[in-house]
Amino acid sequence: MSWQLRFLGTGAAHAVELGSSSVVLEHDGRPRLLIDCGPDTLDRYQAAYGALPEAIYVTHVHLDHVGGLERLFIRLWFDQALRGRCKLFLHASLVPWLQGRIADYPGVLAEGGVNWWEAFRLVPCHRGFWHEGQWFDVFATRHHRAGTSYGLALHGSFVYTGDTRPIPETLAVVAAHGELVAHDCGLVGNPSHSGADDLAREYDTDLRARMVAYHYGSQDDGRKLEALGWRIAHPGESLALPDPLPPRTDAG
Ligand SMILES: [Zn+2]
Repeated sequence: MSWQLRFLGTGAAHAVELGSSSVVLEHDGRPRLLIDCGPDTLDRYQAAYGALPEAIYVTHVHLDHVGGLERLFIRLWFDQALRGRCKLFLHASLVPWLQGRIADYPGVLAEGGVNWWEAFRLVPCHRGFWHEGQWFDVFATRHHRAGTSYGLALHGSFVYTGDTRPIPETLAVVAAHGELVAHDCGLVGNPSHSGADDLAREYDTDLRARMVAYHYGSQDDGRKLEALGWRIAHPGESLALPDPLPPRTDAG
């Protein structure tokens, strides 16, 4: 039983050469859950697995995280075997935002006759969700307006923050048992994203030792982060994860 986290892209919204930030949770070499689907994510996913994703979790609806969903709709809708089967896990409060961003746009198909959501199997969540026998914790992050961005954690295995400022009070709960922590981190922070100095100030030694920085601004910024002592994720890199622990007692 081997669990891995593969980074399809590791860039900030403007870092085109690094790809849109996105990861895939793999188990025994099989992709189990794609996290976020930016404009270039589907190409990278298909290059890695030769197939379309069967399950997606969306952290928030900035276009560098959902910009690939329109194209995925087309691919799914015209594939009878896949239509309506791709699970789309989404915090319930994000449904209206995704509706406004993508689903409401007139004429999702030139021929008409279909609603955008019908290509997917929407699974709204709040505290978390079950997927293939595992419970995934969903937690609020600090990106922009409260209630518009949510990270994901698999107990004992990994935490993926999505775009966020530091959230030490939350990671104290969801990253308390040896999880690898993939954390938003650019060279310099800003009101929406974490910077290297922010992580150094907000997190203790144990947590920093388990952190992998992603969502940086360029390859050069990545090298500078490494020179500062941070472990960074590279596009295409697959990291080994600890095996998940049983769900927290308050899960499910
Ligand atoms: Zn964002």
